[in-house]
Amino acid sequence: MADCLFCGIAAGEIPATRVLESPRTIAFQDINPQAPLHVLVIPKEHHQNLAVVAEAGDGLLDEIAAQAALVAAKAGVAETGYRVVFNTGDHAGQTVHHVHAHVLGGRPLGWPPG
Ligand code: 5GP
Ligand code: ZN
Repeated sequence: MADCLFCGIAAGEIPATRVLESPRTIAFQDINPQAPLHVLVIPKEHHQNLAVVAEAGDGLLDEIAAQAALVAAKAGVAETGYRVVFNTGDHAGQTVHHVHAHVLGGRPLGWPPG
């Protein structure tokens, strides 16, 4: 999709530090990390948010979730724990409207989030 930051990253037109790739997803370091581990998992194809991906029901959401778990395992936080977040809409602070899973870990994260 034109003018979408994460489509640009998926296409390799905008640089990002990639950590993992699967047929339909890529995972890369968040540019402004909020924890020692802060990776974003995105589908290569453009979808606006979680609801749209869930609605498609074609296995893409499973692939994003599986990649999030793999990112955590690869980073060595599977045992200590981690959080996977899909910010959706204004009240959640979604700023990039290409669905992404935040994978956060490497320190106690606290609950509830601010
Ligand atoms: P949201 O607020 O939409 O849930 O999350 C967007 C995330 O994308 C933020 O955590 C932000 O730091 C990250 N981000 C924004 N621009 C870039 C960029 O150009 N490169 C990377 N790697 N991450 C970005
Ligand atoms: Zn996009």
